[in-house]
Amino acid sequence: MAIHSAIRTPADLAGSGWYGLLPEPPPPRVLEGSTKADWVVVGGGFAGLAAARRLTQLQPGSRIVVLDAQRIGWGAAGRNSGFMIDLPHELASDNYAGGRDHDLKQIRMNRAAIEFAAGAAAEYGLDPYFVRAGKYHGAATERGQRVLKEFEEHLARLGEPFESLSAEDLRRVTGTAYYAGGTFTPGTVMIQPAAYIRGVAGGLAGKAEIFENSPVVSIRSEATHVLSTPKGEIETPRVIMTVNGQVESFGFFRHQLMHIFLYASMSRRLTGPEMSRLGGDDFWGLIPADPLGSTVRRFGDRLVVRNSCTYNPSMQASRRQVESFGAAHDRSFRERFPMLPGVDAEFRWAGHLCLSLNSTPAFGEMERGLFSACCCNGLGTVKGTLYGKLIADLAAGSDEPMVRDALAEPAPRKLYPEPFMSLGAKAKLWWLQKRAGREM
Ligand SMILES: Cc1cc2nc3c(=O)[nH]c(=O)nc-3n(C[C@H](O)[C@H](O)[C@H](O)COP(=O)(O)OP(=O)(O)OC[C@H]3O[C@@H](n4cnc5c(N)ncnc54)[C@H](O)[C@@H]3O)c2cc1C
Repeated sequence: MAIHSAIRTPADLAGSGWYGLLPEPPPPRVLEGSTKADWVVVGGGFAGLAAARRLTQLQPGSRIVVLDAQRIGWGAAGRNSGFMIDLPHELASDNYAGGRDHDLKQIRMNRAAIEFAAGAAAEYGLDPYFVRAGKYHGAATERGQRVLKEFEEHLARLGEPFESLSAEDLRRVTGTAYYAGGTFTPGTVMIQPAAYIRGVAGGLAGKAEIFENSPVVSIRSEATHVLSTPKGEIETPRVIMTVNGQVESFGFFRHQLMHIFLYASMSRRLTGPEMSRLGGDDFWGLIPADPLGSTVRRFGDRLVVRNSCTYNPSMQASRRQVESFGAAHDRSFRERFPMLPGVDAEFRWAGHLCLSLNSTPAFGEMERGLFSACCCNGLGTVKGTLYGKLIADLAAGSDEPMVRDALAEPAPRKLYPEPFMSLGAKAKLWWLQKRAGREM
């Protein structure tokens, strides 16, 4: 018998603005007592809900249970910037571009995932939160403009559509004259992440059962798996772990996963006169030319800024970090929106992102009947959806060809030994953020 005890469970601080905009959810259903299920999915983010939804399609009528340690949408799934990007988007690269064949395959897989998510959005009536708006890239510096030029040349080689934008084009859309130029690509879907993820969970009602505030603290594996939570336990032949970086807390993929925290702030509601002074469209998302720059979004009468990242092997960001990076958000906000003095942030938050050194996920069957679709790397709204769906295909024995592609990817590479890993990661993040300069 193997026992996998969790040395920690997630405890995300301060709710995101996306979560804060939604009405308070009804009280959670918490797992209590002993029960059995055909399938247990651990984690109710993009990967977990995609896996659960796929299982409802492949094995309707079976008992599918999802357990999440927190409320649905409270974790990273409801804390991100909401860009579901179809193109390669390698946070660790200098310019979002990779090799041609690799990128063409990635685009195919990303689009399959976006269409799977679109199916859920249509089926569960989530269209207002799932908008095929495309994305803007903005460059504030000469280096940024060079990076976007290379990006456009790469898109042309891939045969992907894009539009080059002047400073004035970008100002017309965003209201800010901060950017010297940019690029528009049409395939990105912009979501309200907390609304989308909660909506998918709601849509699964009646087909899958979702228990919240029910952290799995141990898994006892013999012929079947028994998962324990503080108030209950559940026995099942098949477990799908979709807990992102927390999979390491159970002893899996040790020293293979990097735990990064990203930080964001959302403004208070803009008044009518403030929106007139700002101008531009009322719904857009802009990605910086430098991957470590500021992502900026307008969502109706709110503006959202995301920048700054830290390496936290403890898997926890502190309140102090959230506050201190808030100052960086305010600076970026003031530089871009000088016409909006006195517009403060109403929400500030941090969220956990899991990366691997070779950008591959922790995907596959770890032990008999114990599957993982974790560490989906930077583009987790899309890759989480993708690998969540594919792990359900694999576990249920469906012959989806992309499963083979996913299984062919190498495992996450071993990290360097400590303290070199932490020192190196922190130094690299410091340098990359410094290099981002005015793109931040
Ligand atoms: C500020 C920020 C901005 C981002 N912007 C973008 C973006 O624009 N586009 C993009 O694609 N990605 C973005 N990301 C990344 C994206 O949010 C993640 O990659 C994505 O949420 C990963 O999905 P997931 O389902 O794999 O994991 P998660 O969303 O982290 O879900 C895992 C779930 O597992 C639960 N869990 C963990 N441990 C346990 C346990 N022991 N028992 C039960 N449940 C457990 C957690 O509570 C959580 O709900 C951003 C992230 C952050 C923080």
